[in-house]
Amino acid sequence: MATNPYILDGKALAATFHGYLRAKSNEVAAKLGRPPGLGVILVGDNPASRTYVANKEKTAIACGLHTADHKLAAAARFDEVQEAINDFNAREDIDGILLQLPLPGSLDSKKLIPMIRPDKDADGLHPFNQGLLMSGSGGIKPCTPLGTMYLLDMAMAGGCASIEQLPAADLSGLRAIVVGRSILVGKPVGMLLLERNATVTYAHSKTPELPQRCAEADILVAAVGRAELVRKEWIKPGAIVLDVGINRTADGKLVGDVAFAEGCERARAITPVPGGVGPMTVAMLIRNTVQCCVDRHGLAIRI
Ligand code: NAD
Repeated sequence: MATNPYILDGKALAATFHGYLRAKSNEVAAKLGRPPGLGVILVGDNPASRTYVANKEKTAIACGLHTADHKLAAAARFDEVQEAINDFNAREDIDGILLQLPLPGSLDSKKLIPMIRPDKDADGLHPFNQGLLMSGSGGIKPCTPLGTMYLLDMAMAGGCASIEQLPAADLSGLRAIVVGRSILVGKPVGMLLLERNATVTYAHSKTPELPQRCAEADILVAAVGRAELVRKEWIKPGAIVLDVGINRTADGKLVGDVAFAEGCERARAITPVPGGVGPMTVAMLIRNTVQCCVDRHGLAIRI
């Protein structure tokens, strides 16, 4: 069907966000006497995590934030990570806290994330914020799902000239399928789609007839972690395809969960990998940090 689908350029949308957030950080600094602050906790020396953290800090600084970090050895004990969290919880100049996942060894993120102050939970993973998402009552939304929704809004609007002008799409009458049910991506992205009135199906490793279920969807979100699992015949002609997956092939290439060239033959709009959801995840961490700052200090600034 669509020979020239709309390639949803996450890098470009993230760059638009960076400019928008820089302006918001300046507003915060003018009212508060300091810019919003991001506190980063990195445990261990996983090369991918190090790269992600370096990129997040660099982007935060480019958006006018100030950053601080605790870098702990892979052998760090639970109480040492807890101490780093408590330090950022208490610091007045830190508004958002990022605990980079996955954690090495036996460190349990399910026990450590709830120790982050919910109002400094820039990743939106604290059970309190998850509960707010579930009840549709605001709170800090998790970064990857939120970034995915902005890409969907851009697809629905046919572009994004400015963040202020990008409407939150009403998805009434549209069927969405989310493949993957993790707490980090699948579950929350489904809740956000539901909030916008989409009719949402969750699919996962135990779902029968997965290709057929996917081919019924107007919006397909793939958050699985299986290289090019989603093929052409899984995609309804004219669907919007949002590929969250990041997979490295045997020859070192980064690919998504969707066979991109095949997806382009069917989709109306599709995210590439790399350059789709990934850059938006980072932009949303900065966005959430600014929001945490504005909310905690009751500043009259709209994010
Ligand atoms: P996860 O392993 O926690 O969850 C994967 C989900 O996929 C599970 O719910 C599982 O039921 C489902 N699944 C597994 N095999 C399946 C199959 N054959 N068919 C259907 N469903 C299947 O992973 P996650 O943390 O949700 O991440 C998913 C992918 O998204 C990974 O590739 C990850 O690297 C990527 N990711 C990208 C970003 C980003 O910023 N772009 C952020 C987070 C995660």
